[in-house]
Amino acid sequence: MNIKEQIEALRTELREHNHNYYVLDNATISDYDFDMKLKELQALEAKHPEFYDATSPTLRVGGGITKNFDTIVHEHRMYSLDNSYSKEDLEDWEKRIQKILGDVAVEFTCELKYDGASISLTYEEGTLIKAVTRGDGFQGDDVTTNIKTIKSVPLQLKGDYPSKFDIRGEIVLPFDGFAKMNEERIANGEEPYMNPRNTASGSLKLQDSAAVAKRPLECLLYSLAGTKLGVETQFSVLEKARNWGFKVPTVAKLCKSVDEVLAFVEYWDIHRHDLPYETDGVVIKVNNLQYQEELGHTSKSPRWAMAYKFKAEQVSTVLNEISYQVGRTGAITPVANLQPVLLAGTTVKRASLHNADQIEKLDIRENDTVFVEKGGEIIPKIVGVAIEKRPETSVPTKYITHCPECHTELVRTAGDAKHYCTNFYGCPPQITGRIQHFISRKAMDIEGLGGETVELLFKEGLIKNYADLYTLTKEQVLPLERMAEKSAENLVNGVAASVAIPFERVLFALGIRFVGETVAKKLAKAYKNIDALMAASEEELVAVDEIGERIAQSVIEFFKNEKNIETIARLKEYKLQLELSADKLLNQTETLKGKTFVVSGVFEKVSRNELKKLIEDNGGKVGSSISSKTTFLVAGDKMGPSKRTKAETLNIDIISEDDFLAMV
Ligand code: AMP
Ligand code: ZN
Repeated sequence: MNIKEQIEALRTELREHNHNYYVLDNATISDYDFDMKLKELQALEAKHPEFYDATSPTLRVGGGITKNFDTIVHEHRMYSLDNSYSKEDLEDWEKRIQKILGDVAVEFTCELKYDGASISLTYEEGTLIKAVTRGDGFQGDDVTTNIKTIKSVPLQLKGDYPSKFDIRGEIVLPFDGFAKMNEERIANGEEPYMNPRNTASGSLKLQDSAAVAKRPLECLLYSLAGTKLGVETQFSVLEKARNWGFKVPTVAKLCKSVDEVLAFVEYWDIHRHDLPYETDGVVIKVNNLQYQEELGHTSKSPRWAMAYKFKAEQVSTVLNEISYQVGRTGAITPVANLQPVLLAGTTVKRASLHNADQIEKLDIRENDTVFVEKGGEIIPKIVGVAIEKRPETSVPTKYITHCPECHTELVRTAGDAKHYCTNFYGCPPQITGRIQHFISRKAMDIEGLGGETVELLFKEGLIKNYADLYTLTKEQVLPLERMAEKSAENLVNGVAASVAIPFERVLFALGIRFVGETVAKKLAKAYKNIDALMAASEEELVAVDEIGERIAQSVIEFFKNEKNIETIARLKEYKLQLELSADKLLNQTETLKGKTFVVSGVFEKVSRNELKKLIEDNGGKVGSSISSKTTFLVAGDKMGPSKRTKAETLNIDIISEDDFLAMV
C-alpha cells in the first residue's frame, strides 16, 4: 500500500467506526484503539498535506477558529411551525388541508419535536459543504467549522443520495452529556449551564471549534429541501436519510387519521421522559410530498405541518411588584416582577401581564401567589392566582393613569387592549425604541451599533431620531462610555453601510404602526417609491391586496406628520434606498392585475415557486384553494381530480403551464 492508499484506508475505517458509534449507538472498536488509529492518521496527514480531504475524520477534533460567523442566505427558507394544543385544533387543521387538496386520502407522519438549535446542512455529491443556523429563517450564520466536529454529522454520505440537497434538523445536547458538562463546571468553580437547549445553541457560536468538539452534541435530522430529490413521502425521507448515514430519530409513525395522531401524542406525552433528549411536542406532517407542495406556506409556516405542544410546565411563585414598560409605539405593557423560580430549566424573574384587562380578568395583585406557565412563547405568562394564599392586606391593582417615563396621561381607544402614551416625540423610551427598531437585524441591520449604545447616544443628546444616526461622526461617539477607537469606527461604518438596505426594509424600519415586514413588502411593491406611497389616499391604500383600513389609516397618519416628513427628507438626502432597486423593478408588470390563480400539480418548465413568483411579479394574486374568486386554475401534471371537478363546476378556466407562460 502506498501512502495515499494507507491514508484512504484509515479514513474509511475510522468513518465506519464513527458511524457505528455515534449514529447507530453500537461501538465496534475500543476507545483506545480508535485513538491510536486517529493519531496514526493525523501523523500521516501532517506529513502529507497534499492528500488533504475536507471530510477526513481527523477534522472532528476541531481546531479551526471562527472570528466572525458569515451570514448565509438560505436557498430554501427555514420556516417556523404553527402550534396546536387540542384535538379540535388538529381537526380544524385537517379540514383546512382537505379544503385545499380536495377529496383525497391524507396520511400523516408523526415525529417528536426536539428542543435544540435548528440547523440546515448542505451536501453536494455526498460531501458536507455548509452548515447554517436557522437565523431569521431567511438567513443564518455559517457554523460549518463547528458542526464538522459533531460526530453524528456525516462528512461523506453513502448510498444513492441526490447530487445536491439541504437537510434540516436539530442540534441537541442529551441530558446525561449535559449533566456531565455541568459536573465539570461546578468542580471548576464555574456556574452551571441553565438548560440543554440554550447550551446547544450557544455551542454553535463558540469561536474555537476544538471547544465544540469536546461537547457531547448530537445532530438529529428529519427533513429534506431541494429539487429532484427522488423521494415521495416524508416517511421515506426519514428512511432514506438514515441509509445515507444521517442520525434520524427512530421515533416516527405513519398515521391514517387524526385519532391515530392523538394516540401517538398521548403515548409520547408520557414516554418522552424516558428519552435521552428534551422534546416539547409532536410534529405532524402531511406524508405525501406532492401534497405538501400543493399546500405551500403562509408567510411564517408550512400549511402541511403542525406542531402539537405537550402541556406546558407550571410552577407557583410570589408576584413582588407590577411595573410598566413603554414600547416604541407608546404601548404600555405591565410586567410582573416575580420571586425568581425555576421553570422548565430556566430561572424566571419576570412575566408579561399583557394589558389592563388581563390583570382585571385574573384579578392579579402585588404579593399574590401566582401560577406561571411556559408555553410556546419565550416569555412566560401568568395563568392564575392562588386566591387562598392572598394576604389580608391585599388591595386590587390600580392600573396606572400616567406614563411612568414622561408622565403624560395615558389614553386607551375603544377596541384597543392597550393603554398608550401619546407623547410620541418626547417620551424617551419611545424615541430610543424607534431607533432601536430602525437598527435591528430585520430592519436596517446596522452592525457595530446596539440597543444600549442607542440609549447612551440619546442620553448624551447626540441623536433625537434615526435620521440623526447618519450625521454621527467618530469624534462625537468616541467620548462615550466603553467606546474605543475601533468600536467608534465600526459604528460610523455600520451606519454608512446601511444605505444599501433595500426599500422594503427601510419602509419596515421607519416603524409605522401595523407595518410589519410583510406589509412593508406589499407596500413597497405596490408603490415602488416613498413619494408615491406618501401621496396615496386611504381608498388607494385599502385597494392594495391585504392592506386593511387599520393599516391604511396608520400609514396616512404617519406621513401626515411634519416631523416624519422632515425625517424622510433627511433620509433621502443621506441616500437611503427610498425606491425599489432597478433589478427588482425589472420583469415586473401589471399584466395579470385583478386575476387570481390557483396552482396545482407538477410543472415541467418552471418550478411551482417560480410560477407563483411570476404571477405576483406580473401583478396577479396566488390563491390557495379554488373558489368563485379564482380566475384561472393552472394545472400541472398529477393534479388531483377533485380540483378539476371543482373548477369545472365553478366554471373556472383551466389552463396549462404553456398557456400561462404565454400570458406573461
Ligand atoms: P418553532 O420554532 O416553535 O416555530 O418550531 C419550529 C422548529 O421546530 C423548527 O425550526 C425545528 O428546528 C424544530 N423541530 C424539532 N423537531 C422537529 C421535527 N421533527 N420536524 C420539524 N421541525 C422540528
Ligand atoms: Zn411617555
